[in-house]
Amino acid sequence: MAYFAARDVETTLPCPACQQRLHIARTCHEAYMYCPACSGRYALRDFVARADEAMEEFLENLYVNRI
Ligand SMILES: [Zn+2]
Repeated sequence: MAYFAARDVETTLPCPACQQRLHIARTCHEAYMYCPACSGRYALRDFVARADEAMEEFLENLYVNRI
């Protein structure tokens, strides 16, 4: 799993349920936000509008990998 670190990044966006920091992660097929504290999982589109630096960098890599 050489690319494991790039598949899961902590963002500064708060979890809607518990206010802990959300992580952004991806599988082969999709990217999503999740909360390690309460196990909440959220659609990426709900957070893209207020993406922070960590999230934008993650998404840039995601798009590059799809080319
Ligand atoms: Zn949470």
